[in-house]
Parts: sequence; structure tokens; C-alpha cells
Amino acid sequence: MIDTKRWKIAESGKSKEETIAEAAQLLKAGHTVAFPTETVYGLGADATNAEAVAKIFQAKGRPQDNPLIAHVASKDQLLKLVDSLPDYVENLIDAFSPGPITYVLPSNGICAENVTAGLPTVGVRIPSHPVALALLKVCDVPIAAPSANLSGKPSPTTADHVWEDLNGRIAGIVDGGPTGVGVESTIIDCTQETPSILRPGGISKEEIEEIVGKVLVDPALDNGDTKEKPKAPGMKYTHYAPEVPLWLVEGDNARLQKVYQELVDEGKRVGVLANRNTLEKLNVTDQISLGESLEEVAANLYDSLRRFKQGEIDIILCETYPEIGIGQAIMNRLRKAASRYVEK
Ligand code: AMP
Ligand code: MG
Repeated sequence: MIDTKRWKIAESGKSKEETIAEAAQLLKAGHTVAFPTETVYGLGADATNAEAVAKIFQAKGRPQDNPLIAHVASKDQLLKLVDSLPDYVENLIDAFSPGPITYVLPSNGICAENVTAGLPTVGVRIPSHPVALALLKVCDVPIAAPSANLSGKPSPTTADHVWEDLNGRIAGIVDGGPTGVGVESTIIDCTQETPSILRPGGISKEEIEEIVGKVLVDPALDNGDTKEKPKAPGMKYTHYAPEVPLWLVEGDNARLQKVYQELVDEGKRVGVLANRNTLEKLNVTDQISLGESLEEVAANLYDSLRRFKQGEIDIILCETYPEIGIGQAIMNRLRKAASRYVEK
């Protein structure tokens, strides 16, 4: 057990600068510190120090072959981690960074080998959250930072989520309040002539196309291909999985109500996750509203998945969302989190 420090930006007796200086000192000394970004909370360690990076894998229980994203404060710092770039990358950086987008680029070896999982490429991002940016600036080294959750669980969007998963396993948590976007960054492979989306996220395919024209979607993009047939809980797609099994239900409100009723008639305690509009039209007992717009759904998604607790609820039902804009990221995460996909 490590004694996990917790600083609350603005509310602690210390100034923001003092808190950030303390957190940066721990990071530079090779410890792990969680901090807010505009997407989700990240668990940081010095990306040039393999021993420090190893602590991230240990704390999260993350598989070693899953590379980490290196976070930097500026374009100059980003360019120091990579070899040659296709021209379009600078256009993307100028358009979207700082922001929720990660560029996969040829690594020049400055990041430790366990950051890149031995790949010749490195994923680099400039977050836009003021606390993340300030911390990265003071550190002045790239900070490897995957989501600050236990591997497999929903990503953390508040410092309490981080505390719930990692208290005693990491050196500190900088609490900067809830994150904004709520789903992880878009990952874009920029090693080829045409960029290719590896993971949908905070910046949509449509927005990227406006800058670079053609964008591919990687055929290997793991969308948790649960469409074929219902899958048993705990099978292959356990990423982002809540404590309680999640079923994704395709179709209209009447369909959701019907699936709900069938389960209740079987004696199941069912929680429903849907946007406000849908919930107003349903007759259900346990419900959590994801808000109204797709942006609100993204921002509330992981927190809501964590709110349904084992022992209180047996199954979570969630509606599906249109795959436009941030809806692509929402559906990607929901498919992976779900143990079952109930078709129309
Ligand atoms: P997380 O920060 O937990 O959201 O996970 C980081 C994601 O970035 C993982 O899905 C990694 O597979 C991906 N990633 C990081 N570096 C690379 C890279 N060099 N090539 C491809 N994917 C990467
Ligand atoms: Mg993650």
C-alpha cells in the first residue's frame, strides 16, 4: 500500500501553483500521479523513465502489450519525440491541439520502450485541460498517462472515481473537478499518407476530414463486434465494463420498455440508462439520465455506468445512439462495455 496524496485544486490551502509543483516533483522523482484532462483522468508517470512507467502498468493491472499515450504541453515538445511527419500532421495539430486527439507517429526512442510496448510508433497528445497543461509545463518531460482506472473498468471522470480504483496504489491524485468531454481522445494513425482513425473519441471523423480531406477508419478498429449474437457477460469485451452487466438495446422506446418489462417479470432488478427525452417516455423505477445532447451523454457516460451498484441492480439496460460526431465514440465505448447487444 502506498499512502496516496490528494490535492484539491483551488480548495486546498495551497495555491494552484504549489499543488502543481508538488505533483510535478513526485512525477519527476519517478512516482505515479493522477490528474484531470479534458477527456478523462490520466495516471501519469515520466515517459522517459521505464521504471516509473512500469508503476502505471502495475497500479492499473494493465496488459504490458497495450501502449500508453505520451502527454506533452506544446507542439515543440511533441516534435521532440518523433521522427519525420507527413505534412498533414502539422495541420491537424494546428487545428485540434491542445485537445482530445492523439497522433500515432514514428517514435525517435525518447519515450521508454514500455510506453510504446516495443512498437516503432508513439502516441502523443497535447491535452487542453488547464491543470494538465500547467502540470506538463512544470514537469518539462513527456508524461505517459493512460486512463486512471483499474484496467477493464469504466474510465474515471472525477477524482472520486480515481480514488475508488487506485487509492493505495499510486502516489497522488490532483483533483480538478469533473472532466469535460468524458470519453477518451480520438487516436489517429499518422504514419501513412492517409491518416486512419484507430479509436473514435473527442474529435469526430467529420471534423478531421474538414482539415485533411480523406480519413480512413482502421478496419481493425475494435468496436466490440457484439452485433452478431448476444454474448455472455465476462467474455471478450470487458473494456469499460461496469460492475453490473450492461445490455445495449437497439430500437425505439417501446422496445426498451418491453425488454425492461420482460426482465422485471423474471424477478430481475433493472436499471435504465438513457437520455432525458427517452426516460420521460418510459415507465421504469431505477433510472439515470445521461442528459440531452450527445455531448452531455459522453460527459455523463462513465460516471453513470459506475453509479449502478452490484447488490442493488442485476442488469443495466441502455439505449443506442446515432453514430454521428461524438456519437461514434459513445457507441464504441458502449459496445465494448456491454455484455449483450439486444437487436431490434
Ligand atoms: P488509454 O490511455 O487507457 O485510453 O489507452 C491508450 C490507447 O492508446 C490504447 O488503446 C493504446 O492501444 C493506444 N495507443 C497508444 N500508443 C499507441 C501506438 N503507438 N500505436 C497504436 N495505438 C496506441
Ligand atoms: Mg483506458
